[in-house]
Amino acid sequence: MKDVLLRGLSRPADLRVILVEATDLSRMARMLHDLAPTSASIFAEALTAGLLLGALQKDQTRINLSLEVDGPLSGLLVDADTSGNIRGRVRQPALHFPGDPAVGPRAALGGAGTLSVLRDLGNGEFYRGSVEFVPGTLTENLRRYFASSEQVATALDIGVVAAGTEPLGAVAGIVVQKMPEGSLRALEEVRARIAGGAFREALASGATDEALAGSVVGGGLEVLTRGPVSYVCNCSRERAVNAVSALGPAGIRDVLAKEKQVVIDCEFCKKRYVIEEAELRDMARRLEGGLPAC
Ligand SMILES: [Zn+2]
Repeated sequence: MKDVLLRGLSRPADLRVILVEATDLSRMARMLHDLAPTSASIFAEALTAGLLLGALQKDQTRINLSLEVDGPLSGLLVDADTSGNIRGRVRQPALHFPGDPAVGPRAALGGAGTLSVLRDLGNGEFYRGSVEFVPGTLTENLRRYFASSEQVATALDIGVVAAGTEPLGAVAGIVVQKMPEGSLRALEEVRARIAGGAFREALASGATDEALAGSVVGGGLEVLTRGPVSYVCNCSRERAVNAVSALGPAGIRDVLAKEKQVVIDCEFCKKRYVIEEAELRDMARRLEGGLPAC
């Protein structure tokens, strides 16, 4: 199975379909963040959710999905764009609840908190929608978010299916939305198939992307586009230098009085940027002279 973002339509009922397969990128994120199985499973669910939310956005914008919870996981954040790029961070990477993989994530998330979605509307405008987190999975809480914050009738499922000892055997998610002329009854049927476990069963059986979407939509799926999805961080040395230059010349000299270098670790991709003493002195001098830091 290869990671993919599929967009389609269910013609007879006028339903919009977005499917994301995210197994490979979830495993890569697990390695990058050194996640134990339960943390990895929740993070995989969140990355898939982020990609689905990103795919629902217009134009070239971004969305952030964040969780603040009272369980041992504490919180997480994912940051997605509209074209299948995602990155994220999870506050407690070491959680492992052995036993039923359907129970561990609930225990890790706890029973109270907030799920928020920050949507970049373009032109520097943002919209934040949030719902109270109640006991359950991230996906169950995300359904409540769609019901309370979004204008469009939506069905959603995200599956993280273990395969033997591999907790991330297969990871995928689907969003089905009623178009303006669409059939609400057909959407209710989609919800019923999801509630009956159709999506997760198809995922566990190794279904193709089209068959996965078909498992909840029924017949008549027309695939419009397929594109890649990946775990990508847009950090750079230049951004790290800009962050340090925001301290201003006095701030940089303060740092130099105590340290010989500044080390910035990217919390999304774990890349390390080191800015050495000579460069810091040069930055402070340039900023004092009213020049850019680099
Ligand atoms: Zn990074």
